[in-house]
Amino acid sequence: MPEKETNQFRRTYIAAGIICLCFMIFSLLFVFRMMKQNESENMEYLYDAADQNRVTLMKQITGDLQTLDAVSICISESGMGSDDEIRTVLKKINDNNTFIRMGLTDREGKLDLVDVGGDVFRGVDVSFREFYHRAMSGQDAISGTFRDTLGRPENEKEEDAVYINYYGVPVEKDGDIIGVLCAVNSSRMMREIIDTPVLNGRGFSAVISSDGDFVVRSVHSDAAFMEAGRLSEVKGLDEAEREGIIRQMEKGASGRFEYRINGRTQKGVFIPAGVDDWYIFSMVPELALRHRYSQTALGTFMIIAAACLIFLFLLRRQNHIMTRSREVLLKLAYEDPLTGCRNLARFVMDAEDVLRKANGTHYAVWYCDLKKFKYFNDVFGYEAGDRLLIFLADILDHGVGKDGLFCRVGADNFAGLMPYEDREGLYRWFQELQRRLSEESIGANRLRAELSMGFYCVGESEDRTISVNDMVNRANMAQKSVKQGQGSRCAFFSSEILQRTLKEAELETNGDQALANGEFVVYMQPKVDIQHGDRLDGAEALVRWNSREKGLIPPGEFIPIFERTGFIVKLDRYIFEQVCRWFGGWLAEGGPRINVAVNVSRLGMLQHDFVEYYWSVKERFGIPDLCLELEFTESMIVDDEMFKDTVTSMREKGFVCSMDDFGSGYSSLNLLKNLPIDVLKLDVLFFREGTDVYRERVVISQVIAMARKLQIKTIAEGVEAEEQVRFLRSVGCDVVQGFVFARPMPLEAFEKLLYRTEGKEFKVK
Ligand code: C2E
Ligand code: MG
Ligand code: MG
Repeated sequence: MPEKETNQFRRTYIAAGIICLCFMIFSLLFVFRMMKQNESENMEYLYDAADQNRVTLMKQITGDLQTLDAVSICISESGMGSDDEIRTVLKKINDNNTFIRMGLTDREGKLDLVDVGGDVFRGVDVSFREFYHRAMSGQDAISGTFRDTLGRPENEKEEDAVYINYYGVPVEKDGDIIGVLCAVNSSRMMREIIDTPVLNGRGFSAVISSDGDFVVRSVHSDAAFMEAGRLSEVKGLDEAEREGIIRQMEKGASGRFEYRINGRTQKGVFIPAGVDDWYIFSMVPELALRHRYSQTALGTFMIIAAACLIFLFLLRRQNHIMTRSREVLLKLAYEDPLTGCRNLARFVMDAEDVLRKANGTHYAVWYCDLKKFKYFNDVFGYEAGDRLLIFLADILDHGVGKDGLFCRVGADNFAGLMPYEDREGLYRWFQELQRRLSEESIGANRLRAELSMGFYCVGESEDRTISVNDMVNRANMAQKSVKQGQGSRCAFFSSEILQRTLKEAELETNGDQALANGEFVVYMQPKVDIQHGDRLDGAEALVRWNSREKGLIPPGEFIPIFERTGFIVKLDRYIFEQVCRWFGGWLAEGGPRINVAVNVSRLGMLQHDFVEYYWSVKERFGIPDLCLELEFTESMIVDDEMFKDTVTSMREKGFVCSMDDFGSGYSSLNLLKNLPIDVLKLDVLFFREGTDVYRERVVISQVIAMARKLQIKTIAEGVEAEEQVRFLRSVGCDVVQGFVFARPMPLEAFEKLLYRTEGKEFKVK
């Protein structure tokens, strides 16, 4: 992955991480704030718990005291005098309530206590008890909790001990308090009230008098409360807290406090019990208070953390998917699917990189084309063609070495970049490639695959700033310059090649416009019948491009280009129409019948309406049969049968058909035997200098003799010397077309020539 994108991904992760962290911190802060707020709510809850204890306790004690008050009134009103009478009544009453003992004191605070079991404890002294004094002062009173000693064994164990409380109400007679009606109750009753669970049993309560004495404590008390007998003995309750509690209790107010036990904080509240000077204390661990909220907080935090994790996971997955699809896209965008090597787009990027870091190393961009690749495909099939391409890619892969790169441009074209020292080295490298390539055999045939290659040496020319794409184009121009030649070839880009290519490209694009401008003109080159007194026999129409910018351009410069682009079809038809228009006019004006030949391109002949078109034009201009001759070249014969059919059809439509440039390629005499042609045009090359004249003449005379026997007319082209004419005449050649008689000329000149030479001998110039 490119560094830039790795950094982008990293930045995205960091940003996402920070967002998640912030999210978690804020949610934590929020949850803590909520917890704090809810803590006070929980304290209220603790107050409620204490208040419930208070209400229950008050109910119980008030009930008990009311019972005693009623008994007290009975005693006062009934006028019971003797102790026995009172004991009997108390015994009866006691049997019907929860008290364990009852008794009535005298004015000194002594009394006989009647047990529920019927036992009587005589002379029990309660005068030292505070409750007694309060009762004597006219109040209903209840004592603190203390151990019961009456009727209990002396060395009673602590666990067997029974704790009790005294209730005391004044007994009046004639407005005077004569004693205190006492009842003893087990403090278990109060403890059961105090044992009521606080906060699902996590807290506990106690009753403490305002002077700090414990009245009763819950069995659930923590160690600090369990072990203390007084408030001041509660461990973990610091001085300030204790003083705070006492201050509040002195005011008769409720309050809150905290102490620590085993390193944990206990929170507590106290409220007046409404009984005596007692206070109800309810305590709970701080954690229990927070428990509910800490669970909510934990839950919330977990959900947020999980959400963040899922978010990060999805982000990562998303990135992963993106990276994968990016890789696939890059592969599709930058890789050639057949050979697996770079494609041109990728090559351009990489080559730019290499050239930027070249640091004095010389690099050459090359471009190669597999020659006759179409033929391989046609003959051996596409699979074999593919194999050849893969093999070539493999050779190139090894060939370019670690410092070079290459790509498949498309079809059978590859381009590359490689360091070099001199041109000689590049040339040797090309030969080595060619050697390795020719080792490949396809199918049953051993095929020598050939390459044409062009080099562009980077930085060699003045133009140092051209793009890699332009370098590839230049290497391709060099390649094209040797493509047509035989065998494997390579060439180096030069300014001449550039000029030529530019010119060709210009011609290629200017064709249509030139046609519309009427820049294409017809020239006629006379043909002379040398067997009948050198009389004008006819002419061949030859196109000339009379360019407004470049002057007269010979067909050799633009015909091959137009054949490549397909424009030749239009041009051929245009020339044919021009010729027919002139010829029709000429004949209409009574001009003598001559034979006029036009050239037909291979592509033109392959058009589906070829026969119809040429015939319709011939008809339109009223040209009689056998006056128009169509020149085909032997290189056009790809499919014998089709060619034969076309020629036959054209002959049926009244055209004369000739075989042009016979002898320029690998002419086969078989052609003469098989094809229904009327005329054979021997190529000018027959008469080029430097050939063995004798042998040449033997060949020519034999070809002509054979043609005559087959009743095929012979025309010799490119004849420049009189002596050649004499020879041709002597061997029976019918017609000569050559500079020896006349060069190609414009139509007007040809017309004049026709008038001038009518019926006369055509003089050799
Ligand atoms: P071609 O059809 O074989 O035409 C004969 C060529 O030989 C003409 O060249 C002509 O000028 C040249 N020639 C004739 N006598 C002599 C001679 O004594 N000495 C020399 N050195 N040359 C001689 P041109 O006009 O340059 O045409 C070249 C080729 O271009 C033609 O060869 C033909 O193949 C093609 N061509 C010309 N006009 C057309 C056209 O309208 N359509 C098509 N498809 N091809 C055309
Ligand atoms: Mg011709
Ligand atoms: Mg020719």
